[in-house]
Amino acid sequence: MADTLLVDVEKRFPGGPTVRATLEQRATPGRVTVLFGPSGAGKTTVLRCLAGLDRPERGRILFHGEPWYDGEARVFLPPQQRRVGFLFQDYALFPHLTAEQNVQYGLAHLPATERRERSRALFSLLHLEGMEGRKPRELSGGQQQRVALARALAIRPRLLLLDEPLSALDAPSREQLRGELRRQLRELGVPTVVVTHDRLEALALGDDLVAMDGGRVCQVGPVADVFNHPAELAVARMTGIETVLPGTVLRREAGLATVSVGPHQLLALEPPSGVDVVFVCIRAEDVTLSAPESAPTSARNRLPCTVQSLSPEGALVRVVLDAGFPLVARVTRVSSEEFGLAEGRPITASIKAPSVRLVPHPG
Ligand code: ADP
Ligand code: MG
Repeated sequence: MADTLLVDVEKRFPGGPTVRATLEQRATPGRVTVLFGPSGAGKTTVLRCLAGLDRPERGRILFHGEPWYDGEARVFLPPQQRRVGFLFQDYALFPHLTAEQNVQYGLAHLPATERRERSRALFSLLHLEGMEGRKPRELSGGQQQRVALARALAIRPRLLLLDEPLSALDAPSREQLRGELRRQLRELGVPTVVVTHDRLEALALGDDLVAMDGGRVCQVGPVADVFNHPAELAVARMTGIETVLPGTVLRREAGLATVSVGPHQLLALEPPSGVDVVFVCIRAEDVTLSAPESAPTSARNRLPCTVQSLSPEGALVRVVLDAGFPLVARVTRVSSEEFGLAEGRPITASIKAPSVRLVPHPG
């Protein structure tokens, strides 16, 4: 209770969807919770309710035991009283103010020396020295992002809320800043909630993951747990598992399950008892390719396939295979050339049993 963020809210948009979120997260210094899910999932709505920018229709929000919102008791703290730092998706910097004025914007109640002191410390922490006098249009995307972060931090927030903090950047800066932002968040020592629809951002930034879809929370847990053990199909899809096939558990033995998928039987880690109708989820990165075998068998998850299509993705190639069912693999360009991969060519695809993930079929 003392160090948790408890959220149980329902936000209705008249004539639109309803967003429901229930979660209880530790909110300790430097800990990052990621709200993750596709566009329209309800992530920003939850963040705005946390900030006090939106008012839910019912429920409550408790931060470190303090009620920020309580529908029944009619408690609704405005953003200033919650003391949250909010970083908007497009940064929302004031274009006519300098970087320094932007950062000091929320500090009008403080004496000038204190304001200067705080912004100087943040410019140094976020490697922005020398940028103080620049207008937002004179800053790169990454610098604007750090100025916006500095502005969110200037009020010494108790909770930091970041909405898609890197989405306004081009791909190379995004990649570079991912790691840097993670380091900064750790150093700042403020509990943080980050919204993202980007898998890599979620993996790079989060301690805990709250997976959302269609206005509801699907799964909550440590980031790697959710990615490796999606509890339902919607989560498997959003964590980037590219092959999702219906299957049936035929046998269970020694912690392994034999699952029938299309014309094949695959070995997988055993799902919970009672779960027999499943989605078989395979990540493209977990499919390895080798030369076609003279006597093809599907033993130990080795599947005779033909190559259906190839699409380059930078240094990688996405390969759609026909294994009696569609199977997606991703290999390096070098190994694609080594195997002479081409449409119509035979090839063997292998998948280790732990990489065949079984998710309960909701049907
Ligand atoms: P996300 O941030 O996950 O993309 P949002 O929280 O922005 O999702 O939106 C969740 C759903 O609520 C979407 O269907 C969106 O269209 C709807 N929505 C968001 N804000 C409003 C609003 N002010 N009025 C009506 N519908 C809204
Ligand atoms: Mg959003």
